[in-house]
Amino acid sequence: MYWEKDVETLNRKKLEELQLARLQETVKRTEKSYYYSKLFKEKKLSANSLKSLQDIQKFPFTTKDDLREHWPYGFIAVPKDELVRMHSSSGTTGRATVVFHTAHDISVWSNLLARCMFMTGMRKSDVFQNMMTYGLFTGGLGFHYGAEKIGALVIPAGAGNSKRQIQLMMDFETTVVHVIPSYALHLSTVFTELKLDPRKDTKVKIAFLGAEPHTEKMRRKIEGIYGYKAFNSYGLSEMNGPGVAFECPYQDGMHIWEDSFLVEIIDPKTLEPVADGQEGELVMTSIQKEGMPLLRYRTKDLTRIIPGICPCGRTHRRIERIKGRTDDMLILKGVNIFPMQIEKKLMEIPDVGTNFLIILDRDEFNDSMTVKVEVNKKYFAGDIKQLENLRKKIAEELKGELLITPKVDLVEPDSIPKGEGKAVRVIDNRKD
Ligand code: AMP
Ligand code: ZN
Repeated sequence: MYWEKDVETLNRKKLEELQLARLQETVKRTEKSYYYSKLFKEKKLSANSLKSLQDIQKFPFTTKDDLREHWPYGFIAVPKDELVRMHSSSGTTGRATVVFHTAHDISVWSNLLARCMFMTGMRKSDVFQNMMTYGLFTGGLGFHYGAEKIGALVIPAGAGNSKRQIQLMMDFETTVVHVIPSYALHLSTVFTELKLDPRKDTKVKIAFLGAEPHTEKMRRKIEGIYGYKAFNSYGLSEMNGPGVAFECPYQDGMHIWEDSFLVEIIDPKTLEPVADGQEGELVMTSIQKEGMPLLRYRTKDLTRIIPGICPCGRTHRRIERIKGRTDDMLILKGVNIFPMQIEKKLMEIPDVGTNFLIILDRDEFNDSMTVKVEVNKKYFAGDIKQLENLRKKIAEELKGELLITPKVDLVEPDSIPKGEGKAVRVIDNRKD
């Protein structure tokens, strides 16, 4: 039932002692990084500043902007030759935030994922099809290593290519899959096209759904279509990637692995801790990381700690499914997108105004993005071909930047309503 019973059920007092010891070690380690050594000198902080877990509040937060400003190596806490792997956040071909791992980090991370998957019932005898992008994105290799640690047979299918996914699933009798929820819905339409019924024609009994927000209703819908149990998987590249928090068989919140991460929930406005059980922004400190430990990293994800003890016996607290973000980042098909990226690209194209609107839609099974863009009036008076060429050019430029293909609609100047205050850049029509 447990991958590591001792750690997973460690009593709270012991767990907190372990956290404090690991936190102190981590702070010592971060003193070796360019960024934190400077910061600690300025603020007169050191590992000695930590007598209790609450003392973490003496330390400043770390943000994505800090990571960007000290790109690429400003946060590494070991000599470069000890690093064995690099990953980055999903989306953007530009300077995505990068993270680095030592061999020990990879081993700890794989173990966390093995713990997550084992918790849901996956075993050595399973065939695991990983339908996530391999490469820089953490969802591919992260799960891959974890599943191998359990000893399962891993099919590194990667993302996309739906017919082949289905073929692999049937030929090799896949029993466990890892999939982005929006892709699980899309894939079900391909089953229908092929006149197959996933409930009858496959042997999949467990799915891990991660990388993007989804509602309870959407999970139940996916479970209904496929006839498997789907478990919510949360993580972010700055904290390794997947394997941060994961649902147990009770499917009531995700256990956040507190032997590896120190958790705080703060009010995103006042930056003060919220009362237990209240919603706020998740802030995390990696307390087992060697390559690039981060202190008080602001995830910008909104959630809350679910009060009370989980009947599964694990003592690590649970967070509720992610409710939203405190910044304007969107996630489409598992890819992170900041509206600013679109604005920057559009500004580089002559005759294109800066007024634009992103519309996200979900028909029953597919997610899509439309970017409405205002362009110079002359395009509407002249040749339709010219307009079409401009449309294609914008679509290509955006695809190059965002890594997904948006639909582009060109409209006349001033046709996108301007509000009084801050421009509304995004309309998200995605419901369940
Ligand atoms: P990345 O750094 O590219 O792995 O993106 C991490 C972000 O993806 C997180 O900060 C969340 O906003 C989002 N995310 C990952 N998993 C989930 C999940 N299960 N539910 C909601 N959002 C998620
Ligand atoms: Zn549980």
